[in-house]
Amino acid sequence: MEVTFLGTGTSQGIPIIGSNHPVCLSKNPKDKRLRVSVLVEWEGYNILIDCGPDFRTQMLSNNVQRLDAILYTHEHNDHTAGLDDIRPFFFRQGDIPVFAHKRVLKSLRKRFDYIFETENKYPGAPGVIEKEIENKPFHFEELEIIPVDFDHNRVQVFGFRMKDFAYLTDLKSIEEEEIDKLRDLKVLVVNALRIEPHHSHLNLEEALEFIDKLKPERAYLTHISHLLGFHDEVQEQLPKNVFLAYDNLKITI
Ligand SMILES: [Zn+2]
Repeated sequence: MEVTFLGTGTSQGIPIIGSNHPVCLSKNPKDKRLRVSVLVEWEGYNILIDCGPDFRTQMLSNNVQRLDAILYTHEHNDHTAGLDDIRPFFFRQGDIPVFAHKRVLKSLRKRFDYIFETENKYPGAPGVIEKEIENKPFHFEELEIIPVDFDHNRVQVFGFRMKDFAYLTDLKSIEEEEIDKLRDLKVLVVNALRIEPHHSHLNLEEALEFIDKLKPERAYLTHISHLLGFHDEVQEQLPKNVFLAYDNLKITI
């Protein structure tokens, strides 16, 4: 399984438009972060987790040729706004399966009504196949995917475990029984927004405590704000099995 970090930034991305913050002005490519998304390549299939506003740029910069499924974590705009841009994949492949909680599908139907239209659909609009998921394991082809349920302040979010890899973003609080789904991981990805606490995201200290509790072989931090600091400086202070993810990083599990 190969995972590409397509975007590792918080909702506004880095740099923030018009910001003079030193991290936003950094020349280091690792300090430039598009909105969060990962591409999981497994047995020749391309599975996307979240489809945010930078989706088109992310597909182009990674030369992605096929899209076999989209899994959604939750409905916030930084995770969903790119759905219209699946058109080139739709034209070549037909309807694209989208896996999401019932509430997230409802939100997508409202915001992208023309995509979900069944009668008299506008020519050129992309099409999807709705795959409603609950908090229990499901399959994409032969791959078992285990949803992990947690809270992002008032919003419910799904993380996903696939074999020895788990991806959790927009986590603030999680029940013990959900944590039990995350034992014996080779790679854990979790959000770490900034140094200061935040109402709906783990900060760096909370993310490191969470990682220490689960003890995966390696952990990667994502959904990063400019307020976390410069990539290279933060990386130096992390435990030896914890890494700041950065855009276009590829890892093999
Ligand atoms: Zn987010």
